[in-house]
Amino acid sequence: MNEYDSNRISDLMASIEYKKVNEVESADCFIFNTCHIREKATQKVYSDIGKIKKIFKDKKQKPIFVLAGCVAQAESSMVFEKSDFVDIVVGPQAYHKLPSLIKNYNSNNNKILNTDLDVSNKFDSLENYKNLTSKVSSFITIQEGCDKFCKFCVVPYTRGPEFSRDPEQIVNEISNLVNNGTREITLLGQNVSGYNNKGINLAKLINQIATIKSLKRIRFTTSHPNDFDEELIGLFNYQEKLMPQLHLPVQSGSNKILNLMNRKHTREFYLELIDKFKNARNDIQFSSDFIIGYPGETDKDFEETLDLIDKVKFSNSFSFIYSQRPGTPAVDYIQISKEIAQNRLEILQNKLFDLQIKHNESKINKENKVLLENLTSKGDQFFGRNEYMQPVFVEGSEYVPGDEINVTIYSCNKNNLFGLAKN
Ligand code: SF4
Repeated sequence: MNEYDSNRISDLMASIEYKKVNEVESADCFIFNTCHIREKATQKVYSDIGKIKKIFKDKKQKPIFVLAGCVAQAESSMVFEKSDFVDIVVGPQAYHKLPSLIKNYNSNNNKILNTDLDVSNKFDSLENYKNLTSKVSSFITIQEGCDKFCKFCVVPYTRGPEFSRDPEQIVNEISNLVNNGTREITLLGQNVSGYNNKGINLAKLINQIATIKSLKRIRFTTSHPNDFDEELIGLFNYQEKLMPQLHLPVQSGSNKILNLMNRKHTREFYLELIDKFKNARNDIQFSSDFIIGYPGETDKDFEETLDLIDKVKFSNSFSFIYSQRPGTPAVDYIQISKEIAQNRLEILQNKLFDLQIKHNESKINKENKVLLENLTSKGDQFFGRNEYMQPVFVEGSEYVPGDEINVTIYSCNKNNLFGLAKN
């Protein structure tokens, strides 16, 4: 979502005649769009601000420095106490105001803080600025915020309550992206499966989007397991533009830990849901998120997570040691030791890694439909992705980004597939 937001910020800045530069020294405005989901990301922000400050230490003109995104939202005016280099702090639901905030800053040089959470205002205002993205595979935010309040998560506090964008606005923005060259769209939301605006749910929205003629592929992320109904599951059975790969975070395979996390579902419910998707489309693949070392996690709980991974056989996943986030309930729980958590993470990641390799190897000597995104720097090879989101390098330079071709895979490594186009 930050990538989408950053692109929109770039569109906004273009409207007041700012353009991107490649040299750090030649910039007269910096905008850091930040993530607060893990402690490490937050620390990195302040360290990177320090690096920019150092570069401009002896320069006559100080650049305008904007801190945007979820760190800005969470830390609010504290940002100014932590770094005197920051001039404007703007939250993820207020960045559409940047053109006027920057103009105001230019005229009176006072520090500016804007952390309003009025998301509908943001999207109405963004409609006035054309989305200039021209990538083959593009993101679009359709839903923001979350009402689930998992006990480890900052999203409900930084992005605010659930909000679903107007469907007409979404279809218009995607049509514009498709006119600019987009062939694959990923619909984004913190809880995207809960999308609902004026009776249009995610299934209905996807069917509307699928009518855009030159759009070839549709994906969506990230979903909460509790927000799938038969209509949405059934879509995988008949909607040909919906790709057979689903990111479905589970976080833990232990009912005790799921309860402590306030995930509001059990492992049995999750596994049943996986079966329902497989019944709808038997070649569907899953990826997930795992939090390891959550307060209260015992060896038995961890074993249950490994067991769930064995049962689902995820094609790839994200896994992290639990990170204490200020303001969330779990921050006050008794933490488990770092060594134990690190050890468990390694075991879990090895298992996920083995599954990923097996998943990649299973594609060798098979035909894959690949959507080509760009010619690589080698000049004689294209980069693209198959229907399951696996990165594929295809020999040849005779294609055009956006082509969808049949490719036979001849080898793979952990992350990539390598193939030849089928004549
Ligand atoms: S459902 Fe996802 S975004 Fe919402 S609180 Fe839980 S982890 Fe955070």
